[in-house]
Amino acid sequence: MPIMMTVNLIPAFSDNYIFIFPLNGGAIAVVDPGDAAPVIAHFDKTGQKPDYIFLTHHHDDHIGGAEQLRTKYGCKIIGHAADAKRLPALDIAVNNGDQINIDGTDINVIRTDGHTIGHICYYMPAQETIFVGDTLFVMGCGRLFEGTAQQMFESLQRIKSLPDATSIYCAHEYTLANAEFANAHLPENEEIKNALYFFNQLRADNIPTVPTTLRAEKLSNPFLIAESAETFAEARTAKDNF
Ligand code: ZN
Ligand code: FE
Repeated sequence: MPIMMTVNLIPAFSDNYIFIFPLNGGAIAVVDPGDAAPVIAHFDKTGQKPDYIFLTHHHDDHIGGAEQLRTKYGCKIIGHAADAKRLPALDIAVNNGDQINIDGTDINVIRTDGHTIGHICYYMPAQETIFVGDTLFVMGCGRLFEGTAQQMFESLQRIKSLPDATSIYCAHEYTLANAEFANAHLPENEEIKNALYFFNQLRADNIPTVPTTLRAEKLSNPFLIAESAETFAEARTAKDNF
C-alpha cells in the first residue's frame, strides 16, 4: 500500500495549481509557486511554513514566487541543475535519474523535455505520486515550446511506465478544454465521452479535476493513448489548431 499523503491545491492566477504537502519527517514542501501571495495566505492560515520548494521548469507561472518565499521563510529551492541559469539560485540542484531523499521522503527525478528543454518531474514511489508540472495535464499535455514531438513522446513514455495507480499532479486546470479536444479527436472513444461528462459536472461545481491517475489517463488522454511519436505529433498539432 502506498504511504498516504495529503496534498493541498492552491489555485493561482487564472488556472495554475500550486501544491503543498508534508514530507515524511514533517517538513513542508511547495511545488511550482508561480505566485507567493496565495502560498503565504495558506501558511498564515495553517501557522506552518515551507521548508522546500520544488521547481519543475523555468516558466514564470511556476517560479515567480519562489525567491520571495525563500526570503520570507528561509526555505530551500530544488530544481534542475541543467537548467539552473533560468531558475532562481538552486540550494539543491538535481539531475535526471537522481534518487534523492528529502526529509525522509524518496524522490526520483525524471527529465521530461518537450514543453521546455530541461523540464523535470518529481516522482515519489512510496507515495505513488508524481508532480508533472506542464508535461502532462488531465486528458492533455504541455505545448511544445522548446522540445520536439519526439522528445515529448519519449517523456510521456517515461510517465506511462510508472504504476497505474500513480496519482498525477498537473500544474494547470485545463481539463475541460482538453476533454473537448479529446472527444473531437477520438470520437469513438467511450472513456473520453464519459470523462467529458464527468468533468463538466465537476467544473460546474468548481471542483478541481487534479489529481488524476495514470490509469485514467491511459484510457482517456489522447497523448498517452498515442502509441507512436507520429500519432502523438498528429494529436499535438490538431490540439494546437483546435
Ligand atoms: Zn510552463
Ligand atoms: Fe505553466
